[in-house]
Amino acid sequence: MGKSFLPDALDAYVQETWVRESEVLRRLREETASHPRAGMQIPPDQGQLMALLVRALGARKILEVGVFTGYSSLAMALALPSDGRIVACDVSEEFTNVARRYWKEAGVESKITLHLAPATETLDVLLAEGQAETFDMAFIDADKVNYIEYFERAMRLLKTNGLILIDNVLWSGKILDPTATDEDTEALRQLNARLQADSRIDLALIPIGDGVTVARKR
Ligand code: CA
Repeated sequence: MGKSFLPDALDAYVQETWVRESEVLRRLREETASHPRAGMQIPPDQGQLMALLVRALGARKILEVGVFTGYSSLAMALALPSDGRIVACDVSEEFTNVARRYWKEAGVESKITLHLAPATETLDVLLAEGQAETFDMAFIDADKVNYIEYFERAMRLLKTNGLILIDNVLWSGKILDPTATDEDTEALRQLNARLQADSRIDLALIPIGDGVTVARKR
């Protein structure tokens, strides 16, 4: 899991005092912690926030771009009503095999449709199928260079008043490092600046995990 922006002692207090993590989520988090790319997993307080938003919105249809081992999709699926659905996009069969195992264990596999293909292609198919303006919520947490492409497609797929959450927007603080000019960091800087000026959305930042942008489609 990514490093919190809070000092260690305060982060430990937050994790101890606010987090209510179900047993299946805890086991998935612990299994993923030994993974070499474990830093890609969202922390439990973020999963809990996302579950709360799913319920507060009364969401029934969610888009996820970037599944990894499935913590965020599982947290959201557990918060969805029984007829709720998640369309999940990823390119890794290896990582999503872990996700599928936990979705099944938690009894939510029927709520989640996984598309193993580049997400821009999957989102274009959804749009071509007439699914524009049918989603209540989207979570974008995949390759950073394509974030703007995912965001624009998610905007079309979302209903008015739908929420788009975008992960890693503070990029472990690297966003401020002038020597960091790699394409991921640059893509995040461009996205953050562009969203500030985007009159189609209400905008906020939640400094949880690695920084989560929340955009409400007006
Ligand atoms: Ca992430």
